Amino acid sequence: MKAVVLKQPGTVPILSYIDIPEPSIKSDELLIKVLSAGFCRHDFLVMNGTLRRGIPSDPILGHEICGEIIEKGEEVENLNIGDRIVTLLTQSCGTCEQCQSDNEHRCENGIGIGHGSQGGFAEFLAVKQNSAILIPEFVSSDIACLLTCPIGVGIQALTDITNIKPGSSVAITGASGGLGIHVAQIAKAMGCYTFGITSSEGKISSLMELGLDEVILSSDDLEFSEIIQAMTADIGVDVVIDCVGSKYFSSCVSSLASNGKLILLGELGNAKAQVNLAEILFRDLTIKGSTGARRKHVLKGIDLIKNDLLRPVVHTKLPLKDLLIAFGWMKENKLFGRIVFAD
Ligand SMILES: [Zn+2]
Ligand SMILES: [Zn+2]
Repeated sequence: MKAVVLKQPGTVPILSYIDIPEPSIKSDELLIKVLSAGFCRHDFLVMNGTLRRGIPSDPILGHEICGEIIEKGEEVENLNIGDRIVTLLTQSCGTCEQCQSDNEHRCENGIGIGHGSQGGFAEFLAVKQNSAILIPEFVSSDIACLLTCPIGVGIQALTDITNIKPGSSVAITGASGGLGIHVAQIAKAMGCYTFGITSSEGKISSLMELGLDEVILSSDDLEFSEIIQAMTADIGVDVVIDCVGSKYFSSCVSSLASNGKLILLGELGNAKAQVNLAEILFRDLTIKGSTGARRKHVLKGIDLIKNDLLRPVVHTKLPLKDLLIAFGWMKENKLFGRIVFAD
């Protein structure tokens, strides 16, 4: 089968588009033909050498995967050849305590798909049945790969982690990126007042078209927290979902209202953040990280799409062999939404 192997991470990573043997499956696994795979910031950070822990040599990346089942092991129940599925982020065992309590993404025996184990930047993939979710007919394959990450990741952050309420005010950094653009729509669908923060002036009108209430241009000259405080009569917002990380951390904290919550969903810079701790202390702020998504978050994402409350945003489709082109576009901050590979 064809696959893209990362031979050497770096500023210009060395990739190899090669033929390798198809994976064989165990009794509790599915063999899928990959129909689409999203290009996540996580892949970018492995490719440029920022993320190294748990990465084997010559990895095949890609954890946002939609595929069609072409073979199944004898223990597989409830899924059939010809079904389309989206994968969860971890090859999970289905039997450990975490899996049994709906925490497949924290499986005690789990290995990250497209991180510690083979990912979706290949023609075929072996997937544990416990890590596959059936996709209904009305969700096209091109967008189905985005259901777990970024969509499920955003839903987990806005539900289980923040317990957001209709009417809450939510600011989202990196709002035009593949993660932020979906988080912003999900917050809007949950009845929140949304502030999208972007560093690209050219993306403001497209964000407004997606239904965000306010779009703020971040710049080096003016902290976006100043704008948010001005727009909220110096109250601040209830929640900040930070998809950017260290670069904006201080401004995220300063954007919050008393008792506000900052949820960290991404770190693009691999740098240290500075923050005035008194701000956290005297305004009773909560700061929490969030990663991954459970099955129920993916199902919620399907529900939002069904009810036209979420429009997955695909920047463009590329053939898998163009992974390095996608890397360059992400590096230059050219993307609006996700790049999806589909051959
Ligand atoms: Zn992802
Ligand atoms: Zn498990």
